[in-house]
Amino acid sequence: MSASALWGSAIGLASLYASAFYLPLIGIEASYWLPQVGSQVLYPSAIALLLLTPAAAWWQRCGYADGERAGPLGLIVLAVLCWTAILGAFSAAGFAALNIALIVSGAAASIETTRWVRLGLVVGGLSALIVTLHYLRLYWRALLRVLSILGYTYAALALIRLIPYPRSAFAIQGVGPSAASAPTAATNSPVTAAVSAPLSRQVIWIIFDELDYNQTLGQPAGPQDPSMPNLEQLARSGVSASAAYSPARDTEASIPALLTGFWPAGLKYDDRGDMWLKTRTEGIQRFAQSESAFGRLPQGPESGAILGYFHPYCAIFPATHPCEAFPEVNVGRWFDALTFFGQPAIATARWLPGSGHFLPGWLFRTFEPMYRISEDTLRALPRFLSLEKQSLVFIHINLPHTPADYSQRALHLDTVANDRESYRRNLRLVDQLVALTVATLQRRASQQNILLIVSADHWYRMDSPTVAQHIPWIAWHVGESHGSVLDTRISTVHTADLVLDFLRGRIDSQAQIGPWWGDKSFYPPLMPHNYRYPF
Ligand SMILES: [Zn+2]
Repeated sequence: MSASALWGSAIGLASLYASAFYLPLIGIEASYWLPQVGSQVLYPSAIALLLLTPAAAWWQRCGYADGERAGPLGLIVLAVLCWTAILGAFSAAGFAALNIALIVSGAAASIETTRWVRLGLVVGGLSALIVTLHYLRLYWRALLRVLSILGYTYAALALIRLIPYPRSAFAIQGVGPSAASAPTAATNSPVTAAVSAPLSRQVIWIIFDELDYNQTLGQPAGPQDPSMPNLEQLARSGVSASAAYSPARDTEASIPALLTGFWPAGLKYDDRGDMWLKTRTEGIQRFAQSESAFGRLPQGPESGAILGYFHPYCAIFPATHPCEAFPEVNVGRWFDALTFFGQPAIATARWLPGSGHFLPGWLFRTFEPMYRISEDTLRALPRFLSLEKQSLVFIHINLPHTPADYSQRALHLDTVANDRESYRRNLRLVDQLVALTVATLQRRASQQNILLIVSADHWYRMDSPTVAQHIPWIAWHVGESHGSVLDTRISTVHTADLVLDFLRGRIDSQAQIGPWWGDKSFYPPLMPHNYRYPF
């Protein structure tokens, strides 16, 4: 093989490997979730190409790819390359390989029920590949050529998919997705410290992801159900709704509805990375700062702060500060394209008996985004609860959403291979966070007039995937202790209006909150089959 052919083939094989990382992350919908494709995706892909091309050239030059004399190393590397090519083909077709597992296991769309199917597919698929490749040794040279060409094809496809992205997506603005804008003191409205002035108002709005009413406040604590004394105490102190419904079944649609106050009828992404909401009453609206509760804050969007994950909050609400938003994928670090299999690997290993003892926390932190998000959110939480100048602090916490790797370590529990038990463990951590929140805000109550809202973006979906269930909704005017129960059906999509009415001084006490809901319409939650709508 000539030197140029060798390097040409090596670049193709390195691209093929890197494609398993970049292909699923580039595309129309992905441009919303990863607004800085340059630093989040292309930068780690380039590092993988730079490091893997010489390795692929060396691997071929040393004869490992020569079918007639290659040993097991050649066979395994080739099998991994073929496997990557297959994964890449699925991504190229806009189809996650995980869907195969869902289809095979009878469309039971939960991670727990597909666990063994997925594991079986990987082990079975790789074994079949290794055996096949062993018997096809004479054709390895031709096979490598095909794989290398596929690598170039996937790279070209990615470049085509990048064309519609706005130029700002390629700016390498430091490394790391949580584009926290620096606090600018000048834009802060001065808060007078005069003793006689009324206390400045603030809303702390906490969304616990997937916090279910029937699994928490709606049932008495028992051996199967963790008691949540702090959440229950908070519900007794504040106004607690016993029949609150989220705007939609999933985080994707529910959070934009909560933050805009629009009753959602569908959503869509454009190729510039914007999300559009079809609303029942306001036509089609962009999910953007100007249309949101932040855009309508009496002191301007600069007086908002966000700590969250999943949605790219800091790109959608650029004026808020501080803003920290963690993506739910491994992106932006130099090694992410090299170790794209780290997350599925650890997701599989966590179910092995005793994995809590032999899998170190840093491995979870590095490869399991939900673990890292929990850890980073909990670390930042005290700081966000202590912000004094921001009028609205929105906090979206990835608990009690499973997995429970983080809470198991934080609570010193052994690993369980059961999603339901994982959920209960996460509830225990949620209760501790409620305690921390209440204690922090109580200390601040003499300096500020604070309304705390604790709710969820949707119910526990595993228990009820097709029928909407209640979610907790508690509003506590910090310092008040005489709570009440709001037992009429409410749509939490109106929460943004309540936030604004409190900040504008139209609500002064908890006693006014029940009547405030009196004239608000009820909307049933949007279900997934209605999410996508055609333009
Ligand atoms: Zn959610």
